[in-house]
Amino acid sequence: MGERPSIRHFQHLMAKKLLFLLTLLEILLCGQSKFMAYNTSQGIVHGKLNVHLVAHTHDDVGWLKTVDQYYVGSNNSIQGACVQNVLDSMVHALLADKNRKFIYVEMAFFKRWWRDQSEAVQDLVKNLVSSGQLEFINGAMSMHDEAVTHYIDMIDQTALGHKFLKTEFGVTPRIGWQIDPFGHSAVQAYLLGAEVGFDSLFFGRIDYQDRAKRKKEKSLEVIWQGSKSLGSSAQIFAGAFPENYEPPSGFYFEVNDNSPIVQDNMELFDYNVQDRVNDFVAAALSQANITRTNHIMWTMGTDFKYQYAHTWFRQLDKLIHYVNKDGRVNTLYSTPSIYTDAKYATNESWPIKTDDFFPYADHANAYWTGYFTSRPAIKHYVRLMSGYYLAARQLELFRGRMNSGPNTDSLADALAIAQHHDAVTGTEKQHVANDYSKRLYIGYKESEDLVSSSLACLVESSLLTRCQNPVTKFQQCPLLNISYCPATEVDLVQGKNLVIVVYNSLGWRRNEVIRIPVIDASVTVHDSNGSEIESQLLPQAGVYVDLRNYYVKAYLGQTPPKTPKYWLAFKVSIPPLGFSTYTISTAKRTGSIRSSVDTYESSEKSKFEVGQGNLKLTFSMDQEKCTNYVNFRNLIEEQVELSYLYYSGYNGTNKKDPQNSGAYVFRPNGTYPINHEKQVPLTVLRGPVLDEVHQQINPWIYQVTRLYKGKEHVEVEFIVGPIPIEDGTGKEVSTQISTSMETNKTFYTDSNGRDFIKRIRDYRTDWDLEVNQPAAGNYYPINLGIYIKDNKTEFSVLVDRPIGGSSLEDGQIELMVHRRLLLDDSKGVAEALNETDCVGDDCRGLTVQGKYYYRLDPLGEGAKWRRTFGQEIYSPLLLAFAEKDDTDDWMNSRVSTFSGIDSSYALPDNIAIITLQELDDGTVLLRLAHLYEIEEDKDLSVMASVELKKLFPGRKIQEVKEMNLSANQERTEMEKKRLAWKVEGSSGNRHVSRGGPVDPKELKVELAPMEIRTFFIFSDDVSHQLFDAL
Ligand SMILES: [Zn+2]
Repeated sequence: MGERPSIRHFQHLMAKKLLFLLTLLEILLCGQSKFMAYNTSQGIVHGKLNVHLVAHTHDDVGWLKTVDQYYVGSNNSIQGACVQNVLDSMVHALLADKNRKFIYVEMAFFKRWWRDQSEAVQDLVKNLVSSGQLEFINGAMSMHDEAVTHYIDMIDQTALGHKFLKTEFGVTPRIGWQIDPFGHSAVQAYLLGAEVGFDSLFFGRIDYQDRAKRKKEKSLEVIWQGSKSLGSSAQIFAGAFPENYEPPSGFYFEVNDNSPIVQDNMELFDYNVQDRVNDFVAAALSQANITRTNHIMWTMGTDFKYQYAHTWFRQLDKLIHYVNKDGRVNTLYSTPSIYTDAKYATNESWPIKTDDFFPYADHANAYWTGYFTSRPAIKHYVRLMSGYYLAARQLELFRGRMNSGPNTDSLADALAIAQHHDAVTGTEKQHVANDYSKRLYIGYKESEDLVSSSLACLVESSLLTRCQNPVTKFQQCPLLNISYCPATEVDLVQGKNLVIVVYNSLGWRRNEVIRIPVIDASVTVHDSNGSEIESQLLPQAGVYVDLRNYYVKAYLGQTPPKTPKYWLAFKVSIPPLGFSTYTISTAKRTGSIRSSVDTYESSEKSKFEVGQGNLKLTFSMDQEKCTNYVNFRNLIEEQVELSYLYYSGYNGTNKKDPQNSGAYVFRPNGTYPINHEKQVPLTVLRGPVLDEVHQQINPWIYQVTRLYKGKEHVEVEFIVGPIPIEDGTGKEVSTQISTSMETNKTFYTDSNGRDFIKRIRDYRTDWDLEVNQPAAGNYYPINLGIYIKDNKTEFSVLVDRPIGGSSLEDGQIELMVHRRLLLDDSKGVAEALNETDCVGDDCRGLTVQGKYYYRLDPLGEGAKWRRTFGQEIYSPLLLAFAEKDDTDDWMNSRVSTFSGIDSSYALPDNIAIITLQELDDGTVLLRLAHLYEIEEDKDLSVMASVELKKLFPGRKIQEVKEMNLSANQERTEMEKKRLAWKVEGSSGNRHVSRGGPVDPKELKVELAPMEIRTFFIFSDDVSHQLFDAL
């Protein structure tokens, strides 16, 4: 029963109301302003704990939405994210208070926005940048992944962003900011960090066990020496965040976030200033407990935040005001640069870190090692485009960069975006993966036009002094890998001939075998001198015909009219940075030699041998997976067993630990060997150029083993897919290559295609590893290769794309070649990694075709092949095709062989040109890379020298300016600014070898092991004297 309110209670209520009204009246009468000015000007205070508030947004350059959808803010049913809003509102928020600071990172977005702004806004933003309110951090086009990216791509996309910032704002970013990538590489630290000139590098994701130990030891912040060869000369201050790149819990202030805001209006309800100050101080002290010095950083923002920047800054203003008033800790608007300088000023010594932070696990059963292989076809596309971009820029330079007409810029942009940590990683939604492929294709098409016209100019240059409109029309064949090449699938009748120009983008001569599909069996090949050369016809295997018909229909929407019956293979010899020309015509007399074809039934207890040079493989039919590998030159002999298996993807539904295997995470639920189909015989093709062994391993795995005459490695091509899923489980397919070598749990994998890092199974250098996932926890990213060694032999495997791999047993190497999974792994993408292609209603799981290469060498001799051949895999020969008729004396009327460098010159074996490009102002950008680490090879791990005069025979070099790696500042300037950090327990630095300054007369560039040097070359004539020099 309810109680009636008493009269006394009523009177009390009235009195209170009256008091309130009187107070209000008082305020109004006194004219006291409600406006509250917050003191946000606080700087660092010595002797106090300083909390550096870094306002930031993390804008993925594509992930759940495409890069354009994120920019304009469309497709918001997937994710409410609009980068335009972030950047628009950031400007207003910064203008509202000059003490506020904001950092911006992803230039792919910023460039889009910048182009959209009025001159007035651009001026305001320039002022914000020069006052330090807006600081560009990292400044690359995207925040590239660090596991499955190639170092050349990392450099290119960083340099592209840095060039934009230098041109528009005259600034050079100081800080590396890799907050979200899933593990961190040695190359990122020393090359894309120290060699770029960054003063520090920050990141969010390291192994949970490693993080726990580092918190205890206050070693989240370290001096990272990523390179054995460059040691302390390329070290960087590096900090892993205590948790992730978000604010401490309870300090999220996006419009719809539910962290308590600071309510400091006494007249309103829920006043909470003291509570919020107490929360702030508690969070700060807890972070201070795991951090050295009295500076800590709070990353105030996360994915696509600050869409309405005022909501954040309003709270940050209040926190700074009230926390400093409270006085227990000091807090300020800061940036990673201010934080780094503060750390440096403390003169503290820091622990040293070597190697890298792979693999990454965020809990016991969540090893992010699946993405090393996820979307293997896109990974290959990115890698192919990378090599093509390198070659296209060379040809663009030789022809002369055109301001109008096709150039390589769109491919540069597409590749830059593709390096993002949700792009080449394979961790994006399917529609976003399609978008990346589309951008790469658009970039490729423009570069293809450029390459064709540049080659046309070069072949016609004996006829022309300046190349305007070359008449020769070259075609190229991007689908050559699936044997589709309309340019070569022509009837060579009535005097028609096919011309092939083969371009080599490496600085040394290459002798290799190329292959093209042909229709006619009676053909003959002539070289640039008009001499007939040996060639071999290999019948098209049915598996190629199927691949070709299905994917040409799927990608081009057409069915190829003819089916070429053969591959035509022949050996080519191509000068450095140059081309040779070959013609294919109808055979009048001898012609191409057809391969002999033998089949071997598995029931036979027979053996057969392939290989015509030093290297021979003997296959034993009763031991279907085994081959005996013998190199008669160095007398290496080894039983090599090749097999396939699959891991079944873990299904965590209704389990205690529900972690599934997915796009990011590799969580196997058992290993299943894949048995060979006994009834399918082996087919062996032999001929003068190469031998091939074809094996249908099972209905969805096909393997070709190739041995080329004159080469001492084995090429293995695999065609895997569609991976069957009818049993309702996802599968992750690996191949194992086993030997009898005793390798003591040790193997070596590359860092972004550059330095090799020693790995020990079930072991980490930095902490005592608790092994929960014996397969997934031992997988590492491979971009170049993986090798093992014992006391007499090295066994190396090189790959054609990024891939996950390991050595899970002694003497064995494992590569994960394909994955198809049916469940999402709850790391954000919210889609199963189940790649499917459709032709009409005929949808199939993706088939992946790829290659790896293996070789055995005596101990200490493997590096030569890994480095030289590795470079050749990265830069495949570029083929361009044209037709001519019999009356056209091509070889005598055109340039049939060409080298862009002095004809008597080649680069030393240990040097590669990784960038050769004409910039839009005519300056030439040159990057030279030493390919060897210290002590890697007894002959080649030495100082090498390159003669610039011979690299640029047609130009008179006026000036050579050495730049930092991203070419946005002079190297000497960068070195002058370099911070000299104190390293814990360091007793002086080992002497590090570096090439000396370039003498302006001699123009010779020295390179020490693992050194990359970047130059601007200014020559007196940028109008392409090369043509005159031919
Ligand atoms: Zn991200």
